[in-house]
Amino acid sequence: MTSMGAPEPRVEAYDNRETELGALRIYRALPVKGRRMIGPWCFLDRYGPLSFTEGMPMDVAPHPHIGLQTVTWLLDGEVAHDDSLRCESVLRPGGVNVMTSGAGIAHAERTPPDNTGRLSGVQLWTALPDAARHGAAGFEHVDEVPRLETPGGIVRVFAGAVGDAACPAAYFSPIAGADLQVHAGSGLAVPLDPSFEHGLLLLDGDCTIEGQPLAHHVLYYLGAMRADLALASRRGARVLLVGGAPFDEPILMWWNFVARTEEEIVAARDDWEAHRRFGDVPAYRGPRLAAPDLLKFARPNPAS
Ligand code: MN
Repeated sequence: MTSMGAPEPRVEAYDNRETELGALRIYRALPVKGRRMIGPWCFLDRYGPLSFTEGMPMDVAPHPHIGLQTVTWLLDGEVAHDDSLRCESVLRPGGVNVMTSGAGIAHAERTPPDNTGRLSGVQLWTALPDAARHGAAGFEHVDEVPRLETPGGIVRVFAGAVGDAACPAAYFSPIAGADLQVHAGSGLAVPLDPSFEHGLLLLDGDCTIEGQPLAHHVLYYLGAMRADLALASRRGARVLLVGGAPFDEPILMWWNFVARTEEEIVAARDDWEAHRRFGDVPAYRGPRLAAPDLLKFARPNPAS
């Protein structure tokens, strides 16, 4: 092992877990058995690609968060965001929504009435470090994230920096998040911070890393100590890259809360049920989500 506990480079595969978010099929890449975090990233859901002719495939009623940021990134379609700060935003491919819960926020996410009839994206969370997790809530929408363009592909950076491209959204610990587009018949070299640990999730198409094919619905943990990443594709690919400095604070996740102790979870749940702390989401028409029962701290599905 290296200094600071940085894990050595490797390629470990972790199957995603299939689940549902309302009517929406989800592949959960984080947390899964054996891999709870990559840097500060503590949650990663993949949804779509799908097409629809009526209704709303995504309709997540108001729900609370503590101790985290939600990060929404789309390959196709739209997601409308509304929160208890009265922020409203419609996200489209190429942009990113970053919501910081601080000590408490509530939000709702749904397919907007004016839509393309398609949906494909990822929902991520970062765990806030202790110094930031009791701070103010906030919401940022970046309409078009910075990109690195090379002959072999395009790197769209929605968190932190990759090479010279730095996302303007605020993050609270060393982090990287990017959508790696590899052109057909090409290779893409991506500069990495060797002090970060990284992971990959194949989003579309076919891709190899160091000659090894990436399978769909599998999270690849790459460890740290890598200065770059070499991807190649025959027909073209989109690959999600997540990374960051290994997060050295133990966290406790339950429902939509990232905390440190059971007492914090119980207090947050009580406050949501009592309509304290989190505020309402007036832009959402319909009832909010009720917190699950707090049975022996079994971990229910996050609403994301
Ligand atoms: Mn949420």
